Amino acid sequence: MEKRTELYRGKAKTVFTTDDPERLILHFRNDTSAFDGEKVEQLERKGMINNKFNNFIMAKLEAAGVATQIDRVLSDTDTLVKRLDMIPVECVVRNFAAGSLVRRLGVEEGKELTPPTFELFLKNDALHDPMINESHAVAFGWASAEQLGTMKQLTFKVNDVLKQLFADAGMLLVDFKLEFGVDADGNIVLGDEFSPDGCRLWDKETRKKLDKDRFRQGLGGVVEAYEEVAQRLGVQL
Ligand code: UDP
Repeated sequence: MEKRTELYRGKAKTVFTTDDPERLILHFRNDTSAFDGEKVEQLERKGMINNKFNNFIMAKLEAAGVATQIDRVLSDTDTLVKRLDMIPVECVVRNFAAGSLVRRLGVEEGKELTPPTFELFLKNDALHDPMINESHAVAFGWASAEQLGTMKQLTFKVNDVLKQLFADAGMLLVDFKLEFGVDADGNIVLGDEFSPDGCRLWDKETRKKLDKDRFRQGLGGVVEAYEEVAQRLGVQL
């Protein structure tokens, strides 16, 4: 399957159309951005690592019964996916306090959250992805109550599957963000990506950060950390 025209250029991926109206190509770039695109760097190998990482995780989720948009891997950096009508709402689950939760509520980083929390954010760079609730999403037509219910249930299922997967590899899944879309049959399907760009992972013993916080906080060793996570999980790079 060949790339045709560029449909959308995100901060780390470019989406291309193909000859098949029901299929798109996700191209994973080396660009790494934080703070709404204020800080951007090229990190060698990151596109390849995230593409392979994402395919590995999505295959685990499919096996656990979560529908994903993946069709097949095309190359080191490209994956063929089902076209979805994306819902502009990000779903975030947190198992430990970090990031914006710590800034917003002044709680201690690393506090275990039992039960895990569930939050919604509007995908809108100009507004810095503001936190919203279910009634905003329904009132403004971003998603129906039924769709939001399914998204929440699927996000918690993803948490159950991945928390265990990372724990078995000696890591804590601190938090993560998912994006869903609607397929041609009206089903809610997991889209976008799951990679260390969109989740927080800490070493279980030392709590060393192994995710994009290394980039956000200027800790260095970003790609090395992503490679370590991939290697611990058994992702073939
Ligand atoms: N996240 C993301 N994209 C966003 C915002 C957040 O992938 O636009 C991820 C982030 O990497 C983290 C989780 O969602 O794993 C929760 O992020 P948080 O709300 O703490 O915001 P941040 O501190 O990343 O700004």
